[in-house]
Amino acid sequence: MMKRVVLIQAQLLLLFSLLLVMMPVAQAVNAVIKDARFWTAPDHTRAVLDISSIVDYRAFRLHGPERVVVDIKGAVLKTRLDTFAKDDPVLAAVRYGKPKPGTLRLVMDVREKVQIRTFLLKPMQGKPYRLVIDLMRAEKKTKKVLTKRVGSRKSIVIAIDAGHGGEDPGASGPNRIREKNITLAVAKQFARAINATPGMRAVLTRHGDYFVALKKRVRLARKAKADLLISIHADAVKQRNVSGASVYTLSEKGASDRVAALLAHKENSSDAVGGVMPGEVADPLVNRILADLIKRDSLNSAEMLAEQILKKLGKIGPIKYAVPKHARFVVLTAAEIPSVLVELDYISNPKRERLLRTNKHQKRLATALLDASRTFLRQQGRLPRATAENSAAKQTAQRPS
Ligand SMILES: [Zn+2]
Repeated sequence: MMKRVVLIQAQLLLLFSLLLVMMPVAQAVNAVIKDARFWTAPDHTRAVLDISSIVDYRAFRLHGPERVVVDIKGAVLKTRLDTFAKDDPVLAAVRYGKPKPGTLRLVMDVREKVQIRTFLLKPMQGKPYRLVIDLMRAEKKTKKVLTKRVGSRKSIVIAIDAGHGGEDPGASGPNRIREKNITLAVAKQFARAINATPGMRAVLTRHGDYFVALKKRVRLARKAKADLLISIHADAVKQRNVSGASVYTLSEKGASDRVAALLAHKENSSDAVGGVMPGEVADPLVNRILADLIKRDSLNSAEMLAEQILKKLGKIGPIKYAVPKHARFVVLTAAEIPSVLVELDYISNPKRERLLRTNKHQKRLATALLDASRTFLRQQGRLPRATAENSAAKQTAQRPS
């Protein structure tokens, strides 16, 4: 009996000493920076470092010449740092060194004075810890938004929101086509079509491959005094044969069904994936200002716009859900702007994915969205039955010369 107790004690001792030996080893294992990505937005440049574990870091600025320094404790660099755009308006170079043992120092040479914003994102959706370093540009002297006037009428402004961007790729197709690229391509085609229409003007919530927080998209639409907002997406599901468009509006009561609720959850998680400061992630339940009348009015209008979009998209391709669905999408929460979210199709379907990549199909989708918007605006009495230019053109065409 005694022998056995002694034996157990001896085993425990061995275990403890083993742990003691192993601990410093575990501590010595460095956090590895496995990848660095850079995203250029008009108002900031963002660096994102993939890190194998949580780290202590400190960021500060040095002047003359301007640079941003980030010290990361216990980190080793296993990636290139020169993958930023050569014409980046902010970032000129990224260097690294070891100011003291155990600290990795990144030095970013910047072309202008910047503010810095840094935060660590927790692992999610297959991404590891990410250290986000934003180099924020000084706000430009408020450029007055030019409102072109046609006759005495103010031009109609359509806010186009290309879903996802930057760190947030959105859904992926079987051939690795990213939703963020499809949405931007269609958004740009749509903007071109709008701007070619007399009396109408497009405002894009993003112009390139960078992330814009959902609430900021809403803010941008408001600032532009948009008459309507169309958020563009392309969904993915496990079943590859699924295809078709669907259109969503905000609801007062919650989601119309489980599918809509899940989709809203997926689209709203964009902030967390794309990289919004923890605590800044918009909560659609907190941000409800749904009670006011303007809202009710714009909800009704959004429903009409959604119906028009389904009608026009139905002429060029399959429709997944024949009537608009509802859920709490953060991007649709501008109280006074009729807002809809369009899932153009499923990029998880290889055939549809291939089609969505083509310029021709993107143009067709853009035309359908424009047609739907114009019909809606005519119904609202915001556009005349036919624009002056159009009827003039028709008259000249009809008149024999
Ligand atoms: Zn999406």
